[in-house]
Amino acid sequence: MSRPITIEDVRVILTQPGSARLAVVKVITSEPGLHGVGCATFTQRIHAVAAAIEHHLKPFLLGRDVARIEEIWQMSMVHGYWRNGPVLNNAISGVDQALWDIKGKRANMPVYDLLGGKCREAANVYVHADGPTPSDVADRVKSSMDDGYRYVRVQQGMYGGNTETFVQPEGAPPGAYFDPKRYRRDTLTMLEHVRAEVGDDVELLHDVHERLHPADAISFAKAVEPIGLYFLEDLLAPEDLAWFERVRAACSTPLAMGELFNHPSEWQTVAEQKLVDFLRMHVSQMGGITPARKAADLAHRHGLRTAWHGPADTSPVGHAANLHLDLWAPAFGIQEWYQPSDLDRTVFPGLPEVRNGYLYPNDAPGLGIDVDEALAAEYPIVDGVEQWTQTRLPDGSPVRP
Ligand code: MG
Repeated sequence: MSRPITIEDVRVILTQPGSARLAVVKVITSEPGLHGVGCATFTQRIHAVAAAIEHHLKPFLLGRDVARIEEIWQMSMVHGYWRNGPVLNNAISGVDQALWDIKGKRANMPVYDLLGGKCREAANVYVHADGPTPSDVADRVKSSMDDGYRYVRVQQGMYGGNTETFVQPEGAPPGAYFDPKRYRRDTLTMLEHVRAEVGDDVELLHDVHERLHPADAISFAKAVEPIGLYFLEDLLAPEDLAWFERVRAACSTPLAMGELFNHPSEWQTVAEQKLVDFLRMHVSQMGGITPARKAADLAHRHGLRTAWHGPADTSPVGHAANLHLDLWAPAFGIQEWYQPSDLDRTVFPGLPEVRNGYLYPNDAPGLGIDVDEALAAEYPIVDGVEQWTQTRLPDGSPVRP
């Protein structure tokens, strides 16, 4: 038997060519010239992920056989005894995706072939349309339709809506204030206007971003039912999953959930109990391709579809990983897409491309993407205290962002 190819080095590359701090892992192997890349981006706690890899995962991984992805994933998850947290899951994802990339390169196959082969040639994607007024949002949807997109997520004033017109108590601290009542009213008006303006052929999506109390969430899901959304996203927080049964009883609005999930029991519960229609975990946040392909199979068995989280704070490497899962998964629904810049494409050669609303792979072996380390180093991450996540209700109470 030939000697195994082993892990020689694990490098964390932190870079910020765009708005988001990104973490990419590069696994160097004992085979000259053979390496893999994976996404480990938890942008708000990026140094903690880098430290988890550098100080905890790397010493454990050096010298291990790169072929044994499953065993490495399982042991990485329990090796620290406490598990399933966002920092550790992202760290493990960086290594996991890199090992899938390496396995594909060794097999001379794209990762979608390793997973079982394509169910489709390309993935339908949705993009974001946001604006201060209903007509601005409608104009942006039309512009996306002109660019070939058939699925558009619509928000007015981003998460929580416009926030100018409510009374704060004296001495209220600074923060990202929003008014849930105003948000519900304005969003319903916006959705009705946009649907009337753009017609029924385009699919519309909306993200509540878990900003409503459960009772208000139920009435909101029911109120938007006539709009015919493709899905309503994060109507409730992971902490409020039990309320989904009442939403189901009240209306048929399709529901999507998962970007905040950490633990397999969360996606197992919503799938087995049919509480939502789309699983949309953040693939690095759940630990990489290894758990994601199992969750995609779970979705298929329970009549749900996949819709992996794909904003600008998923790295281009993570977007490539999403696409390989999308091309294979029998129950794929839709892929969120962030419309990368030319610079993103230079720092990350091989980034998948959209044509006519479909995201296509480049069919190179592995994930088909790499990182230009020298160029990435020219765009170091910028540290700062996140403002938009310091969310408050009109009376100043802190709430989930
Ligand atoms: Mg979301």
